[in-house]
Amino acid sequence: MNERDSEAVAALLRARGYRIVASEAECDILLLNTCAVRDAAEQKAIGKAGYALARKRRRPDFVVGILGCMAQNRGTALLEQLPDVDLIIGTQKFHQVPGYLDNLHAARAAGMPLGETIVDLAEEPGSQNEIRDHVLAQDEAPDAPPQVSAFVSIQQGCNMDCAFCIVPKTRGDERSRPMEDIVREVEQLAARGVREITLLGQIVTSYGRRDSAHTGGVSPFVQLLERVHAVDGIERIRFTSPHPRGFKQDLVEAFGRLPKLCEHVHLPLQSGSNRILRAMNRPYTRERYLEIVQALRAARPDMYFSTDIIVGFPGETEEDFAQTRELFEAANYDMAYIFKYSVRTGTPAAEMPGQVSDETKEQRNRILLDRLHENSLRRNQSLVGRVEEVLVEGPDKTGRRLTGRTRGNRVAVFAASGRPIGRLAPLRIDRATVSTLYGELVPAGVEAAEPKAGGQTSVFLSGSSR
Ligand code: SAM
Repeated sequence: MNERDSEAVAALLRARGYRIVASEAECDILLLNTCAVRDAAEQKAIGKAGYALARKRRRPDFVVGILGCMAQNRGTALLEQLPDVDLIIGTQKFHQVPGYLDNLHAARAAGMPLGETIVDLAEEPGSQNEIRDHVLAQDEAPDAPPQVSAFVSIQQGCNMDCAFCIVPKTRGDERSRPMEDIVREVEQLAARGVREITLLGQIVTSYGRRDSAHTGGVSPFVQLLERVHAVDGIERIRFTSPHPRGFKQDLVEAFGRLPKLCEHVHLPLQSGSNRILRAMNRPYTRERYLEIVQALRAARPDMYFSTDIIVGFPGETEEDFAQTRELFEAANYDMAYIFKYSVRTGTPAAEMPGQVSDETKEQRNRILLDRLHENSLRRNQSLVGRVEEVLVEGPDKTGRRLTGRTRGNRVAVFAASGRPIGRLAPLRIDRATVSTLYGELVPAGVEAAEPKAGGQTSVFLSGSSR
């Protein structure tokens, strides 16, 4: 989501005449889009901002801005550690960044003193509708391989109140974008060569529940999937993050009847213990969770699953963790984000008794990571000898081969024969590691695709991530 927010800010800045540069060393303005989900992300952002401010001491007209969740969470308290920062901009004000930068420049040009910090953390009705502009790779460099995959923000904020989570504080109440706007954005992306869309939100499965009706038992989120599915040129649809609570019959069935919907579901579990799920204020049980996994596997037998898990939530005993471990095996995840619980001041869990030691969190984290490693390798190796459809995204890191993803979201690397970027192509897999499939494109069906063609102050946007 941060990547998508940064991209929308970059697109607005570009439209205003700023130039987005690829290297931090070249920029006049450094904007740090920050995360607050765990303390490690905040510390990383503070470290990076401190480093940027050291540069500002050598060059006073250098501009440093802190955007996003950490800005929202810490507000002006950030100035105690980072007194010279120029902008502190919250999560409902991303679209105001170009205006603030223009004002800063105008004030400086008029000889006003440096040193005032612009702080805007206010709520803004309708701000969810402002995350809509894109900068595609081909816009920045006309000879770049065409960008074939894009994120589309459908919602901001969260109403779930999980006991561990800072997001409702940093992102505000759940607000959805109008369906028509989202569909228009997807159509525009398709016209610019994008083939794969990932719909984004904190709890995408709650999309539109305040604004639109269920029609014929179909939720607004599934209605949105149907509308995106109907867009010509879009070949693949993904979404993240859903909530287990949102997997009703209509969504499970959508996987059976919408062929563009890829067979990969990110289904955050958090814990496999019902006692801990209750303490986390997660409104499902381990039994219900497994029912959803089974229903999805019944709808699509080759379904891939990933998840989010928190180890070391306050009060988590060995028995609770054993249940998480057991469920982890039963769900047989292909990918997982395993987090050590991080205390977030202001959340209910921060005050709970039974905080777990770092050493225990580390041990539990390791156990699940080892298990995940085995699962991912086994699943990837099961694909050796098979032909999987990949969406060819562009050159790999070496620049000598191409990379793409299977429908199950596995990364594949293969020889760069022809110019199939942006195409769906059959790939015969001949080798697999835990994270990557290697193989050869099967020539039939692979056609050439032409890359699309797509006075300034240079800006560098950096994101801290989870
Ligand atoms: N849709 C997701 C869900 O169902 O909860 C929410 C995504 S949340 C922003 C990203 C992930 O960060 C969560 O799923 C959770 O695993 C993790 N997370 C949130 N707060 C955390 C904390 N205080 N400590 C460790 N991990 C945390």
